[in-house]
Amino acid sequence: MPAKIILSGATGFIAQHIVKELLAKNYTVVSTVRSIAKGDHLLQLFGSSPKLSYEIVEDVAKPGAFDQVLESNPDATIFIHTASPFHFKTDDVAKDLLTPAVEGTKNALSAIQKYGKNIKRVVITSSYAAVSTASEQNDPKRVFTEKDWNQVTWDEAVSNAFMGYRASKTFAERAAWDFIKENDSQFILTTINPSFVFGPQYADVKENLNTSSEVINAITKLNRDDKIPPFKGGWVDVRDVAKAHVAAFEKPEAEHQRLLMNTGLFTEQTIVDLVRAKFPQLDIPQGTPGSDVETLAGLAQIDNSKTKEILGWEFIGFEQSVSDSIQQILDARKSTANM
Ligand code: NDP
Repeated sequence: MPAKIILSGATGFIAQHIVKELLAKNYTVVSTVRSIAKGDHLLQLFGSSPKLSYEIVEDVAKPGAFDQVLESNPDATIFIHTASPFHFKTDDVAKDLLTPAVEGTKNALSAIQKYGKNIKRVVITSSYAAVSTASEQNDPKRVFTEKDWNQVTWDEAVSNAFMGYRASKTFAERAAWDFIKENDSQFILTTINPSFVFGPQYADVKENLNTSSEVINAITKLNRDDKIPPFKGGWVDVRDVAKAHVAAFEKPEAEHQRLLMNTGLFTEQTIVDLVRAKFPQLDIPQGTPGSDVETLAGLAQIDNSKTKEILGWEFIGFEQSVSDSIQQILDARKSTANM
């Protein structure tokens, strides 16, 4: 019989794609969401599937946040933890980013340790932010792999929201690996470490999207004379990231691994050049076409060949990922305008 899986943060961009993957494979999914309204909406998005239910975990940072969920689902065998804040809108990094990321992870693991005696596999959505140190991003000789750790300090973490988010993922993932060592846990941990995640929403294309999707959305909203917001880094498609969360517990080769999910590098110009070639109806600024090549040559490289070998499929390419995102955004705007 397909396993019962607990999935935290199921309303999120990545998590909704994970729900889709899990239901397609006939798993039973107990999701955690922050309110009844959000839970009901989630059920509706998945056609009230009898395999999907929800429990309320209003704030993952609260002590004992996951105890009741684990206590009432003793037959669950897999736990996937995605819930964590991903935004830069805070002046209090410790309270709004570091605490929920780290305490949320520890609370999930403590509840599993106490009540989840049948949980065999735990998958945590960490990040490429936990792999790469910010000050090394502009060193083209640096190659980051699954073995690397962000060396961010607490003082750097609380200096601004960008560093705070990167540190929140680093400290939370470290806390997870430390937890299983210190508690001699019965379950096996795998982390998923994605770079910037692009690709379409599962549903609900709102005016403003989740942090990583908003990078693309913001570019589609530009007028010809606007300044293009600068971005650079690695990217991967959400559908590959969702599939990796499932492979993480299905594949024995993924046991105890950090799966570094990255397909390529991009700058804002890479997106702009694609938009102008494929969506000429959007009158966005042109920037300096092709100038991303030089910027990308100055960036640290990412070698995730180990992860790709474990997963064994070809990741979705940039053109498809970004085009699918933009087409979905344009379709949603058209249907709102027609309402
Ligand atoms: P979303 O913002 O779409 O999802 C975040 C989820 O976490 C939401 O369900 C949110 O609930 C929930 N959440 C946040 N804070 C709390 C809290 N204190 N208590 C309970 N639930 C909480 O982001 P993504 O889907 O992009 O991110 C999901 C995970 O993937 C995160 O761990 C993120 O760090 C990681 N990640 C994302 C990347 C990306 O580029 N998107 C890259 C690398 C890692 P609600 O919406 O109700 O607030």
